[in-house]
Parts: sequence; structure tokens; C-alpha cells
Amino acid sequence: MPGFPISPTETTIYNPGVQYAIDLAFSDPRLDPQNAGFQILGVNVYRSYQDPNGPYEKVNATPVQVGYYRDEHKISLIQEDVSDNFIFKGDSPNKEWIFKTQKSIVLNNVVYQQFSEGQDIIVNIDGQDIKPLKADGAKKMVWLNTYKTYDPISHISSPPILPSTTGSFVICKYYGVTNFVQTNLNRRLYYKLATYGYDVIDKVNIETPLASAPVISLEAMSEAEPVWLEAMNRNNFILEQGGERVKLFLRKWAGTECPNNSPTHKSTINDCNVCFGTGYVGGYTGPYDILLASPDESKGLELTPEGLKAAFSFETWTGPSPLISQRDFIVRKNGDRFSIGAVNLTTVNGAPLQQRFQVALLGSRDIRYSVPLKASLVTPPNSTPAAEPTQAVIESRKKVWEDLF
Ligand SMILES: [Zn+2]
Repeated sequence: MPGFPISPTETTIYNPGVQYAIDLAFSDPRLDPQNAGFQILGVNVYRSYQDPNGPYEKVNATPVQVGYYRDEHKISLIQEDVSDNFIFKGDSPNKEWIFKTQKSIVLNNVVYQQFSEGQDIIVNIDGQDIKPLKADGAKKMVWLNTYKTYDPISHISSPPILPSTTGSFVICKYYGVTNFVQTNLNRRLYYKLATYGYDVIDKVNIETPLASAPVISLEAMSEAEPVWLEAMNRNNFILEQGGERVKLFLRKWAGTECPNNSPTHKSTINDCNVCFGTGYVGGYTGPYDILLASPDESKGLELTPEGLKAAFSFETWTGPSPLISQRDFIVRKNGDRFSIGAVNLTTVNGAPLQQRFQVALLGSRDIRYSVPLKASLVTPPNSTPAAEPTQAVIESRKKVWEDLF
């Protein structure tokens, strides 16, 4: 038995159909008998660009306690001291003033736009705000304006504002990419999952050494992608037309053990408001906003001696993200909560496309009604616009639509 917890054995990696995002789904590491000596605290996600041998960098802030993680672009407003980041101070062949930023710059709402006028950026030189001349978002470079500006009303031209030669305090305000996820078709993007646990004998926290964690790669998926993307688009269309927006909660299988757990047989009390019967503090992660295919309501009505009675269970489906497991639950708009039964995953060349499952109404006294709806807002944002379809996508689209109709 290794002296460390081992990685989740079953993993799925896919593009969830939004730009600059990768979804990872993985099995519960507690199910592996080799992890029996550890109290599993979660899973850490590591990412490497270009090279499966690394270097790998950790991308999650806290250990992931469900079998799902979305690695995606995060864009934040950044204020950065760039005083010492000039690569040219008027001493380039073209007498340019250029400094570099720490993060890729978002220009015109596009993450990897190359050149843009500097309208999305404010540079502050010794307290004075100015617009830079231009910027290269991908190369993280900003050019200061070195030209005189002419005021047509006062007929006065004023010299450009530039840092003084004796040293100025220069701040750059811009929208930057604080988590970079490259998802183009010929991507070379690699992940490793490290199970993080508490060694109950040695009484230390320890995680899978990266050298012992298998490489998870997107490369295998690229070939199937155009067809899969089109099928995804079609599913999304159906869901957006007639789907029902519900909140999804994923049941934790790791984390801080509930203090109310019985120390002798590790079972939890069923009406526990700390772990909601899961054994782990908080009980669930979410809610995630998802769309459920509308249940055929007419099928769900039963004629009883008391009249028509609403069904308590129905079959439905949703897209591939997040990956759902039995015992997760959903909340409908009217407040009803439904448990999720066995999940049937439809895949295209290994990429998950659709999850089909039965839901059953929970009795009003079920502890899951106590899970707060606003626990933590970890809804995967869907703010990035859909990518322009590539020629391959357009070609596969024709084929798929003809095949289907
Ligand atoms: Zn508890």
C-alpha cells in the first residue's frame, strides 16, 4: 500500500460547450480500497500547458469535494504597479514607451485580441490618468502615447504625458485573465488529479505525489469534437426552448467530517443540520443552475378517486455539466426538491453529451429541504460568448442535421 492517497481512478475530461472552459469529472477516491487508511479531504486539480511532464500548477483554491471541477477563464479588474516593468523608455528604434503587464489583457471584451487602441486600459502616471496608445492583449504589452495631442478648440497642442526620467509611479488598470485556459482545437492541455487526505496513523495531511498521478489529456477528444459540438448545440437548443431552470446540489464525498458523526460506527444522524445526512460539513456544493428537459406533464398526472394528482417522479435529461450522481438533488422553482436516481450518460466518442435520469419528489420532512438555497454561489458562469463555428463545425453541422431529420 502506498504511503499516500491515490488519484481518482475514473476520469472524464471535456469541453462543456463554452469557450475557455474545461470540465473534469472523476470518481470518488474513497471507493478505492488503497485509500482506506486516509480520511479523504478532497481532490486537487493541477494543469500543465504544452508538456504532459509539466510543470503542473494547482488551479483550485480549496480541495474539490465532489466529482466535478470546471477550469475556466477568470477575468478580473486589475490594478498593477508597472513602474519597473518598462521594456522601452523611449529608447527603442521607434522611440516607443512600452511596459508589460502580469496578466493577459482583455481588449474589446475579447480575451486574446492582439492589438487594440488603449480604450480599455487606464494608465496613471504620478496621479494623472491617461489613455495609452495601444495594447497587445496576448503579449501583455501596453504602448504609451508619445505624440502631441492637439485641441481643436483652444488650438493648443500639448506634449504627451510620459514617466519622468528620474522615476515615476505608474499604475495600470485593466481587465486581465487571472486563470488562463486555452481551449483551441490543437490544444495541448494536461491535467493531474491529486487526492488530498489525512493519514490517520501518521496524523498528517498528504496528497498524491504528482509523479504518481496519471496524465489526463484532451487530445484524444479533438477528432470527435465537431460532431460532438454540434450535438451539444442541438441539445442546448432544445433545453433553452422548453427546458426548466432548476438548482442542482451535488452531494459531497469528502471534506471536514461532521462533528455529530457517531465516533463508534461513523454513521451520521439523519436530521443533522450540519451535514444534512452526508457526514461532511455543509453536505452539498451548489447550487448550480442547470436546465432540465421539461417533463411531459400530462404523463405525470394520475387520475385518482380524489381527482388528478401530480406525479411524484418523472424522467428527464440535461446536458453534460456538471456531471450528476445518484443522491444529488434538484430544487424546482416552486420549491419542490427532487432526489436524483441512477444517471445514464450518453457519450459521443467518450465525450459526455447528455445525462438522463429519474427524479423523485422528496417528502416535505426530508432533511434535504434544510439545505440552504443560497449556500454558496458556485454556478458555472456562462458569460463567454459561443465561439464562431470553424469550417469543420459547419461541415459537420450539415451532416448531423441531415442525419437527424
Ligand atoms: Zn452531521
